[in-house]
Amino acid sequence: MKYEQKNGWEIISDAEKNQIFDFCEAYKKYLDNSKTERLCVDYTIELAKHAGFVEFDENKALKNGDKIYINNRGKSIILAVIGEKNILEGINLVASHIDSPRLDLKQNPLYEDTDLALFKTHYYGGIKKYQWTTIPLAMYGVVVKADGTKINIAIGDDENDPVFCITDLLPHLAQKQMSQKISEAIPGENLNVLIGSIPDDSDKEKIKSAIIKMLNEKYGIVEEDFLSAEIEVVPSGKARDIGFDRSLIGSYGHDDRVCSYGALKGILEIDNPEKTAVCLLADKEEIGSMGNTGMQAEYFEYAISAMINSQTGNFNELMLRKCFANSKCLSADVGAAMDPTYKEVSEPRNAPKANYGVMVCKYTGARGKSGSSDASAEFMGEIRKICIDNNIVWQIGELGKVDEGGGGTVAQFVANRNIDTIDCGVPVLSMHAPFEIVAKMDVYMSYKLYKAFYLI
Ligand code: MN
Ligand code: MN
Repeated sequence: MKYEQKNGWEIISDAEKNQIFDFCEAYKKYLDNSKTERLCVDYTIELAKHAGFVEFDENKALKNGDKIYINNRGKSIILAVIGEKNILEGINLVASHIDSPRLDLKQNPLYEDTDLALFKTHYYGGIKKYQWTTIPLAMYGVVVKADGTKINIAIGDDENDPVFCITDLLPHLAQKQMSQKISEAIPGENLNVLIGSIPDDSDKEKIKSAIIKMLNEKYGIVEEDFLSAEIEVVPSGKARDIGFDRSLIGSYGHDDRVCSYGALKGILEIDNPEKTAVCLLADKEEIGSMGNTGMQAEYFEYAISAMINSQTGNFNELMLRKCFANSKCLSADVGAAMDPTYKEVSEPRNAPKANYGVMVCKYTGARGKSGSSDASAEFMGEIRKICIDNNIVWQIGELGKVDEGGGGTVAQFVANRNIDTIDCGVPVLSMHAPFEIVAKMDVYMSYKLYKAFYLI
């Protein structure tokens, strides 16, 4: 659709209105199954297999129409549909991330104090710490024993499960805390998760000892096994419709599973694209895209190199560089929806609004576009045309007023590889909170853009 700056519900057809609601039912299910990046990869593989994707075998030739996935350590994943054209003519990439802000258990998490047992945590990503106290929490992750056995932990979301919680001061005794700055009122070391209170008959630390016994019975682990564990504390509860009209979704983890879902759903639905379509779901974006599962990691080069080799029967470095130079990328990530209660941080002519469709962001960054890859006018023009040609409701999405703050995405790391890259995605209210809000209209329109982009 042409750029109208109108609420999408006023301009789309009745038939499409129903499609939006149907689409978002499946999205809510995806959220509930994807509370961590590991669970998200597992669920992605389940959906991909169902859609005819198979695990990539480097020793087999790739041909037009093949649908493959490459699992990177269970924390990030690449899906591809091989195009008609030679892969050296470039790929159409949609890159998003599947990690979300949360609390990670420390390596020595378990302790007892004042006859209560608790877990120490270290927060992951940018959070407002006070938002994570006094809400029900769940735990997911893996414990790897010294012999290599891996035990999956998942507790706090089944209705028969207990949940966990971080305590906060009662207002009656919070005089000092209430006068502190919000950023200092809850120090990171106060994010301790309450996990039990019944003592056993040991000599000391009876509550801790009782918890260790229970963990041993339930999971076969000992205290030392936490040394090699990755357990993430996340909000408990399912994604829910918000509003009398059910037009919004409240959930943990919209950032960035809302874009991941659209990107995934899009690639699962396409056949025989002209160029090879690639969907990349990255880990570690919330802490800078570091590590071997983040967008800066070399596994991306490895995956594309292997695909070049399997399609052309040949590989050299120049072929990879040629493929990148001819490639295009949508960096699919969320933005800050203009909030009626906090309008002063947004610049209304360029701020995204809920229900105004997928937002396209030429640049992100902070204080003078610092940290942004800043897409070219030429590429921006191409995206405009895709939105017009495919009846997509869309808007411009600047992240806050100039000098108000800012943020980045995986875009810069893709663009550094000589790939035309632009940010686009879904505006979110209360981003990075335990319960974030998106509008169903925007969820659907972002998916429409990703799907159309795979096919250009
Ligand atoms: Mn994000
Ligand atoms: Mn984020």
